Amino acid sequence: MSMNVAAAVDATIAYQDPLQPEASDHLSPTSSSTPTPNVRTATQSMATKYNQEALQLAVKLAREALEAGDSPFASVLVAGDGTTILQSDRNRIVTGLPGDGRPDATLHPELTLARWANLHLGPEERAASTVYTTGEHCAMCSAAHAYCGLGRIVYICSGSMYAAWQEEAGLPRGRVRTLGIRDVAPGVEVEGPVEEYVETMRAIHTEYWKRRENK
Ligand SMILES: [Zn+2]
Repeated sequence: MSMNVAAAVDATIAYQDPLQPEASDHLSPTSSSTPTPNVRTATQSMATKYNQEALQLAVKLAREALEAGDSPFASVLVAGDGTTILQSDRNRIVTGLPGDGRPDATLHPELTLARWANLHLGPEERAASTVYTTGEHCAMCSAAHAYCGLGRIVYICSGSMYAAWQEEAGLPRGRVRTLGIRDVAPGVEVEGPVEEYVETMRAIHTEYWKRRENK
């Protein structure tokens, strides 16, 4: 019996051998895919710390804002289990609320999410949640976040990064001083920047400024 198995194994090896050169020929262009496991490991290690899906959704919605003509910022509210996406929104200062369409300079996604959470979640759910956001909260949104008793914030770019990019692009200073979340809401747990997405977000903002210049 064991001889048969051994023979079968031998036969399999003997059968596969002639295919190997061809198989490796096929694989050679994808041999660049050899680092894939490393990429996956990096993604996984980041995902254990941060909700990857939420970060990617935030970037996607920021792009959507850019395409719509709004400032490219977006936020995603994740439940205390760390995985459930409860709500998400993007900046709507130019195009206004869906179905309304009136510009509103306070329609920052972080403020919209804080107000949504206040209306739809209990205090414990709010405190256990995490807001993933493409850019650090402004003073208005930091205050709203704290007033609504929301939990941790994870931002991709810091407010000071954004201000430096604006300055480099020759843009005038904003009407509201750049304050860190911790300066406005010292009790809120804050993490960021998330380096893996910083350059992507910078490119999106740069594109937005370029489009505005050409208008
Ligand atoms: Zn804001």
